[in-house]
Amino acid sequence: MAHIDTSKVSRWDLHGREHVVQVLRTGVQRTIRCDTCGWRRGAQFLPWLKAQEHLAQAHQATVDPTAA
Ligand SMILES: [Zn+2]
Repeated sequence: MAHIDTSKVSRWDLHGREHVVQVLRTGVQRTIRCDTCGWRRGAQFLPWLKAQEHLAQAHQATVDPTAA
């Protein structure tokens, strides 16, 4: 059932809330944007890694719902 969607990164926090960071591609640049708090930044390389960092640091959301 696990569906890998590379256009966003979602993580659950300790309270079971889902936090989503969208990965938007504009030309060669990528922008990542957090649905929860509106945080955004450019990320040309490894946007998913930066998204995970934000989710962990800002929202303590480290549980990958797509992990087996
Ligand atoms: Zn956020």
